[in-house]
Amino acid sequence: MEKGFGLFYLDAPNRNIGYSACMKIHEYQAKELLRLYEVPTPIGSLVASTSEARRVAEELGGRVVVKAQVHAGGRGLGGGVKLASSPDEAAQLYERIHGMTLVTKQTGPAGKIVRRVYIEAATDFLREFYLALAIDRKSGRVVLLASSQGGSAVEDAARDDNAAFGRLEIDGAIGPAAFALRGIADKLEIGGKAASDFIDIARKSYRLFIENDCELLEINPLAQTSEGRLVALDCKMSFDDSALFRHPKLLGYRDVEEEVPEELEAAKHGLSYVKLDGNIGCLVNGAGLALATLDALATRGGLPANFLDIGGSASGEAIERAFSLIIEDGRCKAALVNVFGGIMSCETVASGIVHAVSKSGTKLPIVARLSGNSAELGRRILAERVANVRFADDLEQAASMATAAAVGSAAHIER
Ligand code: GDP
Ligand code: MN
Repeated sequence: MEKGFGLFYLDAPNRNIGYSACMKIHEYQAKELLRLYEVPTPIGSLVASTSEARRVAEELGGRVVVKAQVHAGGRGLGGGVKLASSPDEAAQLYERIHGMTLVTKQTGPAGKIVRRVYIEAATDFLREFYLALAIDRKSGRVVLLASSQGGSAVEDAARDDNAAFGRLEIDGAIGPAAFALRGIADKLEIGGKAASDFIDIARKSYRLFIENDCELLEINPLAQTSEGRLVALDCKMSFDDSALFRHPKLLGYRDVEEEVPEELEAAKHGLSYVKLDGNIGCLVNGAGLALATLDALATRGGLPANFLDIGGSASGEAIERAFSLIIEDGRCKAALVNVFGGIMSCETVASGIVHAVSKSGTKLPIVARLSGNSAELGRRILAERVANVRFADDLEQAASMATAAAVGSAAHIER
């Protein structure tokens, strides 16, 4: 059997998580939810000052873990999770961690500023397991994944001959069956009281997952204490954006400072924008066409800077904002506009772009492929009022031209 899960880890140090229309929350919030469902976690508290850090550490008995709260995994390896053996040390660690730029493989090289710090009672443990619930798109079911080698090195478990894995596709009508969970506990060599804990924690987490429309729930490590019991020492959760309207409490967990600013700005205008790491800004109508555009670029060696779907009924202002996101993105060396006008008129798109370009005075090379509703008019508007625009007849040509334009303008800038 192949080792590992072939899935993304939210908690892993080496994995860059792509956007999937979901809201992430902080560890301390995830633990609040776990407690609500009676999953055992250490006691802890968010602290906002050095004196509070000292006081909380004192209340928790002095031996505590000081934890950076950012929407990224791999904090331990990046220096964002530290053990303190006294209240004074906890206060020092608070000062070191609060405000630091935490760089983990998930934050990218720029890192993330730590704005919140959580302190909890330290736990002595013997083993670290990994337990997650995710959605398996193939079977359309919630799948439970578990590994005997959890903790910061969870990804290495896939290459570890001694690691044991459990996988259970859960029937939504029944939930996770106790016997199946016991089978996984056996496989992971979880015995005694811990086996019952494992079953109990898995079932409660499953209920939490379903009742809150989770996308992913990851407990890593699920630690076995020296008393032989299981405790969730870390937890990452994300929720389906489309279902948030029915969970007002979860909306209160949103931390916009942790989110990508361009994605927020686009969402305000009803556009879906996803930041990617290339240099060609893309403005497309329709998610399918947007994906096809990214593919067309990729096959020509073009590097999209973003996915941007303006949808079928964006206003001129929304399109202006959308194109401004591309103009203001310093990484962009060219823009590719690919619009198949249906309900959306190419005239509206062209006017929005003209406004954005004339306000900014940008010289960004633009390749436009306009087709369908009012395409001719749209092209005329762009040709008359935008200096750096060139037109393509179809998607393939547009992708080739945009790729060449990005290379050309990058070379021009470097010179
Ligand atoms: P992550 O690196 O973002 O996944 O942050 P975690 O909260 O998982 O912490 C990283 C590692 O720190 C864990 O895998 C544990 O090995 C360790 N750790 C976390 N909490 C405790 C604790 O209470 N006691 C001890 N001894 N180690 C801890
Ligand atoms: Mn972790």
